[in-house]
Formats: sequence, structure tokens, C-alpha cells
Amino acid sequence: MTTLVLHHQACFRHEPGPGHPESPQRLHVVLGALQQPEFAQLAWREAPPGTREQVLLVHHAEYVDAIADAAPRGGLVALDGGDTLMSAGSWEAVMRCVGAACAGVDAVVTGEAGNVFCATRPCGHHAEPDRAMGFCIFNQAAIAAVHALDRHGLERVAVIDFDVHHGNGTQAAFFDRPELFYGSSHQSPLYPGTGAAHETGVSGNIVNLPLPPGCGTEVFRARMTNELLPALRRFAPELIIVSAGFDAHRCDPLADMNLEDDDFGWITREVMAIADDLCGGRIVSILEGGYSAAGLAGGCAAHVRALMQH
Ligand SMILES: [Zn+2]
Repeated sequence: MTTLVLHHQACFRHEPGPGHPESPQRLHVVLGALQQPEFAQLAWREAPPGTREQVLLVHHAEYVDAIADAAPRGGLVALDGGDTLMSAGSWEAVMRCVGAACAGVDAVVTGEAGNVFCATRPCGHHAEPDRAMGFCIFNQAAIAAVHALDRHGLERVAVIDFDVHHGNGTQAAFFDRPELFYGSSHQSPLYPGTGAAHETGVSGNIVNLPLPPGCGTEVFRARMTNELLPALRRFAPELIIVSAGFDAHRCDPLADMNLEDDDFGWITREVMAIADDLCGGRIVSILEGGYSAAGLAGGCAAHVRALMQH
């Protein structure tokens, strides 16, 4: 079974402006890393455009309309102070992110691919049902999870998020839905300030693992092993979606955790072991954050290298 990478050139054309950390260059780094010879066995496909119906699985119609209306013909429009901006190419970029995530679910549920990596941007996990936030406009990981329930009739879907920031948007979308599980490791305190351990959702379906600034491999692996991974296994997902951010890497300029490249390989292998036991190995991984070229290239390569060993 192959590992499929979904991507689209439109994802380069979301341009939040000079000096913005969530730059098109990030995607050049990721795609460059995956062009190395060891990744020659990856299958590649262009992401289809997402549909309004898919976006509405998570986001409110008024919000979707407001984003469509806000998209500029030129220049930049700010949605969330100075953090989240739209350029002329942003609408198509975010719709390709949604389309990639849903097509990734389709591919693993139908057995066309063993697992999937969506090499898309911008990231999505801060986007709440009615609000853009933290570089994120639509929440493609949350949308993909609900798509798996609605389109394919799955009964339990989990999102595991190892981005260094808490995915407040995914948590908000899942909080009252016991059929959806959200597990997040993240630095605390840090933006956006949510993700305390006592935020547990309607049925214990939210598991937050706040980690102290400065921590690294040992603390990350121990707490994942003792807390988050057992909770994921107990939930017994039929599909696992990964919000794969690489900003907990020691090189990242926006946070203060100290993970090494191979920590991203390790967590990937741990999640894969659970997916192998419980859901036929079905994993759809979606790029979230990661703002140093070295951390993004090394972490992402370790992650996809692991995905290919299934
Ligand atoms: Zn992040």
C-alpha cells in the first residue's frame, strides 16, 4: 500500500505578506525535502478543490460567506489583527487545503492509499467554526474528520495534533461531539492560551497535554506514552487524522520546545501502531505549522519516512 502525497500549486499563492512566518517558502522546504531519493516511492496527486458543502461540515455559513466576500483582488486583507491575512490567491489555497484533506480521507477509506500526507498550506487548526485565527482560515483537519463521518459513515474519528500550539479550532469543533476525539500536545503557556488539561470535552473526547517551555525528547515521549496515546487507543478510532506541525522542533523561532527530527518519526510510528491495531493503518496527515526551514525539512522528512514504513 502506498503513501500518497496530496499537494497543489495554489497553496503557494496564499501570500500573507513580507516577513510573515507562514510564508510560501515553507511549502518549498517541505516539497524539497520530499524530493530526496529516499522518497521516490511516494505517490503524488494534485489536490482537488474543496467544496462549500465540505467547508460547511465545520464552519458556519455566515462565516464562509464573509471569507468569500473578504478575499481581495489584490493587496492584503486582515481577518484577525495582523496574524491572519488574505491575498488574491488565498481563497483557492484554502479550498485546495480542504479538498486535499477530504480526498485524503476518501483515499484511505476506499483502500486506494495506505496513508496520506497533505502538503498544503495555510494551516488550519486555529480556525474555529466562525472565526479565522492564528494564520488559519478553514480548519481542514476538523473538516476531514467530519467528512469521514458524514460521507463514509464512520462512527469514531480521532485527530492527533503535535503542533507546538494548541488547536483551539479543532477543539471547539469537536467539544460537544463524542464521536470525535481531539488529542493535542502543545507548549503551555503559549499562543493561543487554550488547551489546559481540564478541557476534556463532553465525554472525555478532548485530551490536552500542555508541556512546559524548554522541554524536549524525554518529556514529550514520556507524556505521550503515558497519557495521550493510551487515551487515543481507548477511543478506538476508525480513522486517525494527524495535525502535523513541526514547530515543536528545537530550531523553531515561534516557540520554545526542543524536539529533534526523530521525535517526529517516533510519534508517527506510535500513532501508526495504534492505527494498525484498530483501523487498518488508516492515517491522513495534514501539514500544520513549522517555521524554521531546518525543523520543517528534518521533522517533515522523519514524519513521512515513518509513514512510508507501513
Ligand atoms: Zn503551530
